[in-house]
Amino acid sequence: MGSKFLEDVLATIKRGVELGGFPEELYKILSKPERILIVKIPVRMDDGRLEVFEGYRVQHNSALGPYKGGIRFHPQVTLEDDIALATLMTLKNSLAGIPYGGGKGAVRVDYKKLSRSELERLSRGYARAIAPLIGEEIDIPAPDVGTNPQVMAWMVDEYSKIAQRNVPGVFTAKPPVLWGNPVREYATGFGCAVMSREAAEKYLGGIEGKKVAIQGFGNTGRWHAYWVAKMGAKVVAISDTSGTVYDPEGIDVELAMKVKNETGKIINYPKGEKIPDPKAALYVDADILGPDAMEEQITLENVDKVKAKIIVEGANGPTTPEAEAKLYEKGAIVVPDFLANAGGVVMSYLEWVENLQWYIWDEEETRAKLEKIMKNNFLRVYEKFESMKAEKKGITMRDAALVLSLERVYQAMKYRGWL
Ligand code: NAD
Repeated sequence: MGSKFLEDVLATIKRGVELGGFPEELYKILSKPERILIVKIPVRMDDGRLEVFEGYRVQHNSALGPYKGGIRFHPQVTLEDDIALATLMTLKNSLAGIPYGGGKGAVRVDYKKLSRSELERLSRGYARAIAPLIGEEIDIPAPDVGTNPQVMAWMVDEYSKIAQRNVPGVFTAKPPVLWGNPVREYATGFGCAVMSREAAEKYLGGIEGKKVAIQGFGNTGRWHAYWVAKMGAKVVAISDTSGTVYDPEGIDVELAMKVKNETGKIINYPKGEKIPDPKAALYVDADILGPDAMEEQITLENVDKVKAKIIVEGANGPTTPEAEAKLYEKGAIVVPDFLANAGGVVMSYLEWVENLQWYIWDEEETRAKLEKIMKNNFLRVYEKFESMKAEKKGITMRDAALVLSLERVYQAMKYRGWL
């Protein structure tokens, strides 16, 4: 027992409670989830063997609405990490201003070793196992690491069979043809681009012509690059595990996406300078940096090489706390992960609203709604950050976001009479 990840999350909440001047009771109630479901999922494998997988659904806090959070299929899943992730969802959903509490699910499985039919049986088995505790107005899961729209489609089908009616709103990020929405594919990266644009507006005099570097060219990074270019910025560096492409004249992002889709490697992009180090994108001359690949990329060891003035965290936890402090000392600003990469969960909320009404918005209409929410979220945090900064030294945008997110859950629990 004991998880460093969970300890860190709890320490963050403790710090936020102190920083915001909230009563100690807020920490007491948020430091434990409301409910934990542990399930065993028997799956008949293709070779005839029976395997029994362990899974969880953690329902952390429901003060603001139904629980909401992804389902992770991963071999290293632990219950404590799942609790930590559910706790973070309470903070993220609260900050995003959507009517959801926090939840998270997980199954300990090496999903890459499963055949398609084994994955389907496991997905359906997990949906059946958690069915008694989820529902379109109770707990609404979505994909996370190791799960995807196809998995959501199997799960919504399984749940609907149990309910004996179609229940589209019980899982989100479904394929567009099955009550999903086309914006979901790029929602996280699009949200990051809105953050880049709004931060540039406040701190750099606008996004037009600003140099942007993106580390990671997966679902988050590629759409961050695509949309920020559409908004008028110049994408000068992109990297993936194959290396970094650098072109101060500007990279053609659509061509880069084509090259990545066709060859799997960004380094095959036909123009610009090729640097073997995938981290080189972090160090190029840029105004805005999107660390959109994975956690712990900007550390005390390399932070001095980062030149960007605005860092928009598309990935979860790409900047260590020590490196973040150094960035602020240098005059840079870090738009924190749980604000910057919330486009996916906000899009899930929009899909759910469509599903509850059996209504379909077209792509432009949906994107406009997503953009408005993300922009407002940035502005709320920006204003809180500027006001806190004027009163106390060493305040970061992450601190302001944390206090705002705690404030909303706190108020909800207070009005309900829980505190
Ligand atoms: P992904 O697997 O689609 O893409 C990851 C990309 O990063 C790949 O292009 C890979 O080549 C690249 N990469 C890996 N290590 C690298 C390195 N050291 N240097 C440069 N590039 C590297 O993953 P994703 O869904 O885009 O997720 C990326 C991050 O964004 C994760 O931290 C994830 O938790 C976070 N995130 C994603 C979403 C979402 O909706 N996809 C939502 C919220 C947060």
